[in-house]
Amino acid sequence: MIFDTHCHIYDSKYEESIDEIIYKCLSFDVGLMMVVGDNIVDSKKCDEISKQYNEVYSAVGVHPEEVDTDDFDKMEEQLTSLVLNNNKIKAIGEIGLDYYWKNDEDTKSKQKKYFIKQIEIANKLDLPIIIHARDSVTDCIEILKEHPCINKGVFHCFSGSVEQAQIIIKMGYYIGLDGPVTYKNSKTPKEVAKIVPSDKLVIETDSPYLPPVPYRGKTNYPYYCKEIIQEIAIIREADYKEIEELTFENGKRLFKI
Ligand SMILES: [Zn+2]
Repeated sequence: MIFDTHCHIYDSKYEESIDEIIYKCLSFDVGLMMVVGDNIVDSKKCDEISKQYNEVYSAVGVHPEEVDTDDFDKMEEQLTSLVLNNNKIKAIGEIGLDYYWKNDEDTKSKQKKYFIKQIEIANKLDLPIIIHARDSVTDCIEILKEHPCINKGVFHCFSGSVEQAQIIIKMGYYIGLDGPVTYKNSKTPKEVAKIVPSDKLVIETDSPYLPPVPYRGKTNYPYYCKEIIQEIAIIREADYKEIEELTFENGKRLFKI
């Protein structure tokens, strides 16, 4: 069975209902899904979906690009009350740093403040974290050295170097790989896919974004995990089934499912 450890099936990009998407996922052997929030409104959607469907677990949190949307002072109470009322919320995420669009010092320091606070919330609630790090892996590593998450977590859609992956793995965090590992020109994710230890690799789609080959330019779905697993199996000279099973077990261990 497949575990898509990072998807946004509540996204307005989807024309189908969540019912239809999940039904199709199950028929394609996706047995577990982690729906991840970007802000408080979406986190509430994730909370609801995970309450409705056996196969779905959820993560709640404020994404670095959403720090202007959600009130810092209310965040702890909002996230805590969601977690305490739903035992299928298994992580705080996605949280982290994103310097792709804006990288002035004010933006960076605001994002860091939200990131650190949410690591503390995860520690209080005894949860791991889902880390979003775009053009910011070094800073994320620095923050985690000073503010470690007790239950660790995953660098989702990892786009850093092999050296950075090795540091992260040594610190006890998992590496999440998705669509870009299948892109012909994206060399680094392929190199990373080769070196991640078998007990630290998880699969994700980040759907509806980042569809793997041959679906580029289209909407992504959790059942496109198959293409990602297939590519990783080729890179690691492993069997498809072996990668499917080990990443499924890794996801369950990471999120204590
Ligand atoms: Zn995401």
